[in-house]
Amino acid sequence: SNTLEGRIAVVTAAGQGIGRASALAFAKAGATVWATDINEETLASLSGEAAIHTARLDVTDKDAVSAFFAATGRVDILFNCAGVVHGGTVLDVTEKDLNFAFDLNVRAMIHTIQAALPGMLEHNDGAIINMSSVASSVKGVPNRCAYSLTKAAVIGLTKSVAADYVTRGIRCNAICPGTVESPSLEGRMRAQGNYEEARAAFIARQPMGRLGTAEEIADLAVHLAGATYTTGQAYAIDGGWSI
Ligand code: NAD
Repeated sequence: SNTLEGRIAVVTAAGQGIGRASALAFAKAGATVWATDINEETLASLSGEAAIHTARLDVTDKDAVSAFFAATGRVDILFNCAGVVHGGTVLDVTEKDLNFAFDLNVRAMIHTIQAALPGMLEHNDGAIINMSSVASSVKGVPNRCAYSLTKAAVIGLTKSVAADYVTRGIRCNAICPGTVESPSLEGRMRAQGNYEEARAAFIARQPMGRLGTAEEIADLAVHLAGATYTTGQAYAIDGGWSI
């Protein structure tokens, strides 16, 4: 379909995983896409794609974020996909991890929204999609303290932006995935020592009996980019984890 024809989308963390799949899905739906990531090497794999521009952007660098949006001009769709997973309970969490989780999972989204929203307000139209997780205020998940508390903050940010700009053509929604195949999930499985056992444990917590795919999450991002009567919602897409 070409439901996003003529729209300009910015995706953060588009080098791999859900962000990459979403950049491709937005382009397939007709949008012109700015695929951004801190990692230029993975981003390069998108550089031949029609309707996709690539640019290095570290979303934790506030000045770089402002400069990027100033140079890009009109943006209709902003998908804040960048995020980091820390393991550990409340007793394990260090100040360093906490700061990094807040900087990447929360503050960076605030900065991209601050940079993109004024332009959206000029033409009373814009869709913002923020990446949260089921591990947030949706569900308590063991050993994910810094992650869950920052992903819960993403839902609060989403509802705040939605409430403030609902009469001005701006929609803001959050996506809350369950466990999704991605390079970083692979890394977390390998880091646990016994890869097969770790993989089985991740699958076991998904009632559908399988992990989600990045393409399934990208489909929801495309839907929310064009869902003109939907705002302020946190959409679980989790294989039944939160039933
Ligand atoms: P991933 O974790 O494999 O990739 C993350 C990407 O973020 C990488 O390309 C990396 O280079 C980029 N990145 C890291 N720091 C950055 C920065 N400062 N600026 C810009 N880009 C940066 O991808 P994923 O697993 O698909 O996760 C994407 C998002 O989805 C994250 O916010 C994650 O928390 C969320 N999420 C993932 C899952 C899952 O199971 N995979 C579940 C729920 C939510």
